[in-house]
Amino acid sequence: MVTAPPATVARSDWHARPSDDVLQALSASAAGLSDTEVAARLATYGRNELPPPRPVPAWRRFLRHFNDPLILFLLAAAIVALALGHRVDAAVIAAVVTINAIVGFVQEGRAEQALSALRSMLSPSARALRDGERRLVAVETLVPGDVLLLEAGDRVPADARLLRGRGLRVDESVLTGESVPVEKSVDAVAEGADLGGRTSMLYSGTLVSAGQATAVVVATGTHTQIGHIGALLGQVEMLTTPLLQQIKRFGKAFTAIAIVAAAALFVFAVAARGYVWLDALMVVVALAVGVVPESLPAVITITLAIGVRRMAARNAIVRRLPAVETLGATTVICSDKTGTLTRNEMTARGVVTAAGEVEAEGGGYAPVGALSARAGGDAALAAAERVARIGLLCNDARLHASDGSWRIDGDPMEGALLALAGKAGLDGASIGSMHPRLDEVPFDAAHRFMATLHAEIEGEGALVCVKGAPEQVLALSAWQAGHGMGEEALDPAFWRRAIDASGAEGQRVLGFAWRKLERVPERFELPDVGGLVFAGIVGFIDPPRDEAIRAVADCRSAGIAVKMITGDHAATAAAIAGQLRLADEVRVVTGQELEGVADADLPTLAESASVFARTTPEHKLRIVRALQSRGHTVAMTGDGVNDAPSLKQADIGIAMGHKGTEAAKEASEMVLADDNFASIDAAVYEGRAVYDNIRKVIAWTLPTNGGEALAVVLAILFGLVLPMTPPQILWINMVLTVTLGLALAFEPPEQGVMARPPRRRDAALVSPFMLWRIVLVSLLFSAGAFGIFAWAQARGHDVETARTMVVNMFCVMEIFYLFSVRYLHGTSFSLQGLRGTPAVLWAIAAVVLAQLAFTYLPWMQAIFDSRPVPLFEGIVIVLAGMAMMLVLEVEKWLLRKMGLFDELKPATEKSAPSPGVTI
Ligand code: ATP
Repeated sequence: MVTAPPATVARSDWHARPSDDVLQALSASAAGLSDTEVAARLATYGRNELPPPRPVPAWRRFLRHFNDPLILFLLAAAIVALALGHRVDAAVIAAVVTINAIVGFVQEGRAEQALSALRSMLSPSARALRDGERRLVAVETLVPGDVLLLEAGDRVPADARLLRGRGLRVDESVLTGESVPVEKSVDAVAEGADLGGRTSMLYSGTLVSAGQATAVVVATGTHTQIGHIGALLGQVEMLTTPLLQQIKRFGKAFTAIAIVAAAALFVFAVAARGYVWLDALMVVVALAVGVVPESLPAVITITLAIGVRRMAARNAIVRRLPAVETLGATTVICSDKTGTLTRNEMTARGVVTAAGEVEAEGGGYAPVGALSARAGGDAALAAAERVARIGLLCNDARLHASDGSWRIDGDPMEGALLALAGKAGLDGASIGSMHPRLDEVPFDAAHRFMATLHAEIEGEGALVCVKGAPEQVLALSAWQAGHGMGEEALDPAFWRRAIDASGAEGQRVLGFAWRKLERVPERFELPDVGGLVFAGIVGFIDPPRDEAIRAVADCRSAGIAVKMITGDHAATAAAIAGQLRLADEVRVVTGQELEGVADADLPTLAESASVFARTTPEHKLRIVRALQSRGHTVAMTGDGVNDAPSLKQADIGIAMGHKGTEAAKEASEMVLADDNFASIDAAVYEGRAVYDNIRKVIAWTLPTNGGEALAVVLAILFGLVLPMTPPQILWINMVLTVTLGLALAFEPPEQGVMARPPRRRDAALVSPFMLWRIVLVSLLFSAGAFGIFAWAQARGHDVETARTMVVNMFCVMEIFYLFSVRYLHGTSFSLQGLRGTPAVLWAIAAVVLAQLAFTYLPWMQAIFDSRPVPLFEGIVIVLAGMAMMLVLEVEKWLLRKMGLFDELKPATEKSAPSPGVTI
């Protein structure tokens, strides 16, 4: 039944009222709302979202492209030309400026689009009780009256009144500016309390830094406190990158130099070469435009955006654009084990108790299959059943059968324990009702166990059930369940052997213990757990992901070290690392050992070890720092709220999309949609490809600009006839910028991307090889231009035809050079190389069409003073272009033979490493 949504929802004294009152006022219950109720309330109160910031209007964004010294300089020149009656020059310059702005505008729009598509991929979800079930729901669908379940690391999704809290601390700095987390409790506070003092409330946008909470939503969307101040959270940040900034700075400096040089050339042309000043002005203006790579930042942004899209298609969602660049330079990946390198599909395989060993049949989460005693007979079975009972009670997961398969809601290991209980013949519902849970100490990676307190319905007192890392549970135990199920003295040596034996098989081991209490205690907190009776251990299998094994091999051949940093036991971690072939010799260091290592000695240890077991989040931070001190570019995965510092410290923090807390995601540069290590490897691959493409864009743009400029400068310096007129220079620049330059942004990765060592983070973008190329190609281009110009005149063509041939020569050379640049690392002469990508083919088709129009259309001839070029001359131009490509290929081959430049060295495929483990 749909109850009418309460009219009183917009009140502001929720903090001062008892929680039951609040529930009543909201017509809600602690069991949550029904789906129909939610739909009705959604219609009344609207979605739980804040309006996006008003976008900058399109015309303003368009006009921004005119705010550039070069463009202003051009516009001034156009006005001068117009005033002096040079209408064609003025019109061409105006066209160039406008087209430039349009191209910039469109390119920026595309880049923005690609990035904003990511925002929707990262839309957060929240856990809520709906129809009496725990569900993961989209944050926008929350309504007043919804019951939220929150834990450490969650971002509070709406304003809510606490119903229940355990050790709850909330970081409210986004709202109050107070950076120390505030303790929260269910008790109502004074009505006049200020925002920071309303400890019974949780506010949207704040971060749960510790503990657990159940709370009822009281305000959503714009009615929340954060809605009032209009802040917007959780967006994809930073639309720029260090590289982009560097290029923009370079562009600015370059423009300034170009304008000064143009002015000097202008003076020289007028004073020494007798140019009419307006002619000289037009030439130098065109030159400045030709030489300044004004479209470079936009093309590079597009290249980055394409990279972001390709990464997203491979489940790596970039939150901060610089990560795209940094990924390509990664030298070490530090990864979690469970769920990232392994499948996180747990199956309980065996139970070891003092009475013997029991094996469980069956896979997956189906609670079917038999338990059989490997040693110890019926006594072992009875003891294993007791362990399974603890696992059932000390458990937050749910199992459901849907479509014939069993699925879990919650932690996979807890799901596996429910399946184990089923196999032991235990009925979860009846055991749960005989021992209702009164309280709990939730699992935390810092103390590595979970404890629950239960009432005894049949009998006196209470029952404590504990499960956790076996060493930890052993440390809390004073006795153990003996052969005859009675209690006897604990035998730690026996258990240590049993734990190591299961671990060595790659099993994840969990210890179980209980304690009977005579009375229900008043308090049940972390320090109250102790004096337990150790019941036994359970070994779970969680095999490595097949794709992770391949990805690890891929990383290793790419010169990237993979390190496992896990909370799991050393023996288990070592066995899994061996299966993954993390290193030729797997060296394991435990968190305890790390504690004893001085900061000065850590870098060597961190470099040589490939597994860090039983670590805490603080260890992770130390390991990242140590690796960075050795010049490594470190990618690090994490999921918990405590991982945030190390994720921030890492060069690329990577959070898990499923398992990760909101806090971890926000601290990260990248989020893995599938929590899979293979996606990190894919992202590195794409990152390397993007960086290659950026270099290709630059390697193509700079010398083509340089070639044009050099030809004109030389003509002026030596008093020769200009090989191109100013409108023609502008034409070349315009046609090529919108076509060929952009095509390189779409280049697929070259072969052997992951067979090269990582690039150095501090390596110059323009490498010595590229510098050499810029000089060589500029010279070749000028030689081509002058050559064809001289040849045309020698064949008796007038200067206009000769100039038309030069313009065509330039475009043909640019096309062939594009093919050459597409393969910086290998030869361009391959079937694949010559076939090109669709982007390249479209771009070439566009250039060819434009050139045909330029050469043969009468009105174009009128504007640009061009003349039709005869067929034979046309063929010679194309052959000359091919000859230039041939020269560049021979040069690449020669340089490779001479081994002069590192980047031309062939990639070496390393053979797959063999496993081997030492601890
Ligand atoms: P990784 O760090 O690679 O994800 P992990 O899952 O083992 O590995 P943690 O989540 O820090 O790392 O867990 C550390 C240890 O705590 C586990 O090895 C296990 O022994 C214990 N543990 C994990 N989850 C639970 C749980 N829900 N209840 C009790 N103990 C747990």
